[in-house]
Amino acid sequence: MPLSFYKRPGLVVYVTCGDPDLATTREIVLAAIAAGADVIQLDEPWVRNNPELAKRYAVKAINRALQGITVPTVVHLCFGYAAVVPGSTKPAGYSFLAELADTHAEQISIEAAQPRLDLGVLKDLSSKKIMLGVLDLGNPEIETAEIVADRIRHGLKYVAADRLIPAPDCGMKYMPRHIAFGKLKAMCDAAAIVRQEIS
Ligand SMILES: [Zn+2]
Repeated sequence: MPLSFYKRPGLVVYVTCGDPDLATTREIVLAAIAAGADVIQLDEPWVRNNPELAKRYAVKAINRALQGITVPTVVHLCFGYAAVVPGSTKPAGYSFLAELADTHAEQISIEAAQPRLDLGVLKDLSSKKIMLGVLDLGNPEIETAEIVADRIRHGLKYVAADRLIPAPDCGMKYMPRHIAFGKLKAMCDAAAIVRQEIS
């Protein structure tokens, strides 16, 4: 779906069982690639809201959508936008995460800064690249690069550098532009600091 309402390019594809149905999700993914999409990210708010049902359907549903796709693929597990779901109310862990090792997705995208996620869970995803949320979007204060660098360093205790992709947590669209920009700059600066340390 083009985010033309916000006058920004973007693609959001939801994989949920029956929304509207799996065949349509697959069609949307193929159409997006035919239209030139470089990356397909499936946003998945559902598996953490209903992990019991997710155990029965989610991996199959995701794999049906991503079968044979050759562009990089991501599954994003959503805790919700910070403006709507305050970080303090976000759970400190995902109840359906290790299972995603069995999906065809190349990358798993998780929020970690706001919910102060215990990153020990990432050991179960050693076959995946991890897109790790390192910006707390529930806090309007712009993090220093050093704070973000610490979050990246912490992530590197659990994920090798060539598999770690720093990213914001959810909800940047609700932030004033200058704050969003400042946070993204802090993230880029932090990545540069850490890259220098490890190269
Ligand atoms: Zn999200």
